[in-house]
Amino acid sequence: MPDRSISPSNASPSVVSPFPDQGHDHTRCIDTAIRQAEMLCASRSRRLTPLRRRVLELVWASHQPVKAYDLLAHLRQESASAAPPTVYRALDFLLAERLIHRLASLNAYVGCAQPDHRHAGQFLICAQCQAVAELDDDSISDLLGHRAAEQGFVLTDQVIELEGICPRCRGAQPRADALANDSL
Ligand SMILES: [Zn+2]
Ligand SMILES: [Zn+2]
Ligand SMILES: [Zn+2]
Repeated sequence: MPDRSISPSNASPSVVSPFPDQGHDHTRCIDTAIRQAEMLCASRSRRLTPLRRRVLELVWASHQPVKAYDLLAHLRQESASAAPPTVYRALDFLLAERLIHRLASLNAYVGCAQPDHRHAGQFLICAQCQAVAELDDDSISDLLGHRAAEQGFVLTDQVIELEGICPRCRGAQPRADALANDSL
């Protein structure tokens, strides 16, 4: 069972990662992510080398997406020999194992809290603090796949990136009360 480290109150089957609660214990998010990665790589006979593991930790440093050159800058502080190809190879590995996602709109990477199952990924990205929540709603992906098929178009990738303001930046609770206010 996934160890939910953040915001169980916002969790529903279609939520991969909710927006993090302020002051949540983020070390638990990182620990969970690393533990899941170790288990998955072992079960897939893939090697989570120290560098790949370190890059995954750095991507998970927060719930904000991180850019490759920021990762490189961090790694250079730890080892002068860290070079761009090494970082990109580690990122490619983590992407291939679905431990992280790439957000094209930001050209940045974010950790996936549910890497054990394949999913399309619908991302809510806060325009103010860049916090990211991830959804995996089959009804959205099915509808898109259906509409695309009607056009004779076969979807090969279905990452959806939406921009808005997160609950913390709004200074408000998500969902129910927002919907109630909007309908007045
Ligand atoms: Zn966290
Ligand atoms: Zn994901
Ligand atoms: Zn925000």
